[in-house]
Amino acid sequence: MKLKIYNTKSKNKEIFKPLDSNNIRMYVCGPTVYDRAHIGNARPVVVFDILYRLLKYLYGEKSVTYVRNITDVDDKIIAKSSAENKSVNEITSETIKWFIEDNNYLNVNKPTHQPKATHYISQMIAMIEVLILKKNAYVLEDGEVLFSVNTFKSYGSLSKQNLESMIVGNRVDIDRRKKNPLDFVLWKPTSKNNIGWDSPWGYGRPGWHIECSAMSKEILGDTFDIHGGGIDLIFPHHENETAQSICANNKNSLANYWMHNGFVNIEGQKMSKSLGNYLTVEDLRNKNIDGAVIRFVLLSTHYRQPLDWTNRKLTEAQNIINKWFNVINNRDLNINGIPTNKILEALCDDLNIPLVITEMHNLLKEEDYDGFANSFFFLGFNSNNSIKSNNSLDKQTINEMVNLLIVERQNARKNKDYRKSDLIRIKLEKAGVTINDHGNETTWSLKPNFNPSSLLTEN
Ligand SMILES: [Zn+2]
Repeated sequence: MKLKIYNTKSKNKEIFKPLDSNNIRMYVCGPTVYDRAHIGNARPVVVFDILYRLLKYLYGEKSVTYVRNITDVDDKIIAKSSAENKSVNEITSETIKWFIEDNNYLNVNKPTHQPKATHYISQMIAMIEVLILKKNAYVLEDGEVLFSVNTFKSYGSLSKQNLESMIVGNRVDIDRRKKNPLDFVLWKPTSKNNIGWDSPWGYGRPGWHIECSAMSKEILGDTFDIHGGGIDLIFPHHENETAQSICANNKNSLANYWMHNGFVNIEGQKMSKSLGNYLTVEDLRNKNIDGAVIRFVLLSTHYRQPLDWTNRKLTEAQNIINKWFNVINNRDLNINGIPTNKILEALCDDLNIPLVITEMHNLLKEEDYDGFANSFFFLGFNSNNSIKSNNSLDKQTINEMVNLLIVERQNARKNKDYRKSDLIRIKLEKAGVTINDHGNETTWSLKPNFNPSSLLTEN
């Protein structure tokens, strides 16, 4: 089956041709960690999770490298750290923890790499040095380093703008020290009291754009397959990433396919703190809205269209997910994790998830429950949110607890203590853990109705 992707770069739906089908490489810009993720932040996380699952299915689990970075040094983080009188590290660690919890709640697969920007400072400095050497960047008196957009002919080609319209349209501040008002920061000097690093241009910190260029180069190479993010990142962030990387790496392209998801509005209005309609994943979790329901709403509008988050959609999604959970929980199903052909076809057509959802309804009408269930699991609607409602148990703890019981059961079987092994099996099943024995090996998975408290009871 051929995967087609809408490429922002060409403004066309194209057949996906990987650079190396044994090594598919995708980079998605991750969060700047200073605050709770709102549902606008959650959308790309969930959309690219579906693409990640699809790529793994099409090319093999081990053939896909997915990088989603964490920006842990930024003006907003520094502002928050001084406002709350906490260290930058305290702010970022706490926010990263929230982000992981939210993603687990939404049943998002962990990317292959989640690099933190602060771990790649030397690579950023090295890249800036190359840009200066090649005269694509210049150093100001105070140690600030700027990228010179005039030196990169294709500047504006990703966002399809020319230099003039970019300056006017984006109300770029006129800074007399800049050769072009669009020149952007690669390195920013700062006082020794602030978080920073020594560099050839003095103490300072990197600009946001160079972070992604340096991390993607280090982990994925000079050119890779897919670069994703929200539509708001096309300009200036992705335009700047491309410019720096192409100039520094001497390549024609940073990523061959650029994918962008649309905005999220709330009840037809732009989401903003000042309007009081700011909605975080945590707000929804606190209302006990299942992760699968949030996931459903985020996916039900085509990823390139603006998504209007409404209470009506949330209620509808709740009804559908309840119905789906019922099908999964009350039937004996053959689970192999392979979605139906029609579902795959819809996914391969530039992630047409609205069509996927129509197909899910059709599968139920046709009473193809196995096909339905396999697609359901493939799409990640099998959230285990009962786990998260019990604050004392995180996912890792659950994994460890289940694994311990599995090993205990294997030992009991080895010792021919079948009474004990049966008791453990019953306990796991009661908790909602499905176990499969393959000779001496046992694999397990959690059902949507998984209830960890049953694991805590005595045999
Ligand atoms: Zn980025």
